[in-house]
Amino acid sequence: MSKPTDVLKLLLYLLVASLVTISARAEFRAGIAVRVVTPEPLLPVSGGIGPSKPAQKKAGDLTVRALVLADGEIRVAIVSADFLGFPSALGNRVRAKVKGIPGENILIGATHTHSAPDCYGFPDGKGGTGADLKYIDSVCVRMAEAINEAATNLRPARLKIATGDAKGKIAYNYYADRLYDPRCHVIQAVDSDGRPFATLVNYAVHPEVIGSGQGICSPDLIGPLYERLQEKGGGVGIFMNSAQGGMVTADNRGPAGKDTRNWEECVRIGQLLADEALRMVESAPEQGAPRLFCDARTISFPVDSPQLRAVMASSPVGLGSGDTTKVSTQLNILNIGNAQILTIPGEALPNIGFYLKRNMRGEHNLLFGLTNDAFGYILTRVDWSSFKVYDYVSRTCLGEKTGEILIEEALRFVAESPQPSKLK
Ligand SMILES: [Zn+2]
Repeated sequence: MSKPTDVLKLLLYLLVASLVTISARAEFRAGIAVRVVTPEPLLPVSGGIGPSKPAQKKAGDLTVRALVLADGEIRVAIVSADFLGFPSALGNRVRAKVKGIPGENILIGATHTHSAPDCYGFPDGKGGTGADLKYIDSVCVRMAEAINEAATNLRPARLKIATGDAKGKIAYNYYADRLYDPRCHVIQAVDSDGRPFATLVNYAVHPEVIGSGQGICSPDLIGPLYERLQEKGGGVGIFMNSAQGGMVTADNRGPAGKDTRNWEECVRIGQLLADEALRMVESAPEQGAPRLFCDARTISFPVDSPQLRAVMASSPVGLGSGDTTKVSTQLNILNIGNAQILTIPGEALPNIGFYLKRNMRGEHNLLFGLTNDAFGYILTRVDWSSFKVYDYVSRTCLGEKTGEILIEEALRFVAESPQPSKLK
């Protein structure tokens, strides 16, 4: 028979133990926020290295979006922006304005629309640039606002995670029809009533239906993707591109070999991708307390491409910070529940994408391309300067070693990081 004080001690111990458990394993939470960044008045748009082209009208709005996830003390922000690319010089300005989330836990990707203002400061061929520095600054401010708001809006969430082949006429490889990855990955946050409030779609495609040559400022197919996700009950959408280099693009092939290059085609493709994503995630099991892990490393590449050295040397936004012979950037690994995410600072060719995914360790393996930086195309040395059609992607690749450096560093990082949890 124990004395009353022993019983009290035991009760006290049980109470403390349960409190410790609760505080160590706080509820999983998520929040999402959006800011419109369409310039007013409109600015010239950029579809790649070279002068921007004037825009007279807009189709849809450009946005920046932030999905913040929280598991106890760990907080991560996944950010998407409707631009061709968003260099780390700008990403770091954004990180400096965010409260409560460490910079290395902020992943900033570009959708790669080819009809938005230039964020690199590409040379205009007349000794200047078409980039508007005031506008770029306002984008950084609004992006930081979106992240801070998403963190303020954090609410209890469960996650549904799915992978499947996106069916229908969405993407293809312009260089060789079927050499692309049809897999689409979806992460959906649902509230305590089971209602979705955020849907992340991860898929490899060039959103260049409209392109930069029609005088139109547009998020391209990503705008209609977001609208459809919301209309169909998916909540606020956020798109992260994948390994879409050389040359995985929107399948806007029309009759008689002519591309359909209008807003209606953006709507068709964006809606189809949204419908496919929602179809995949609908039957996915809910993960009530997904574990979150986030780590970052710095990765460096030599710059051998004369064209990219010239862009770095003349850019007013601080690309490469003065030294044009090498670049460094943030590489992230993120585990969310049973999914693993790896970032790629550019446009990796689809074969690199397949190889990385095959060697990652989640039940769902996602690549966030054009994330934390976008240094042009990423080719392995056997692809670099090989086929005639690879001339362009080889010229706009940092150099012959880029692909191998990425693969080696990324897979070492994967091997040295914890494995995501398993559902199966
Ligand atoms: Zn591209």
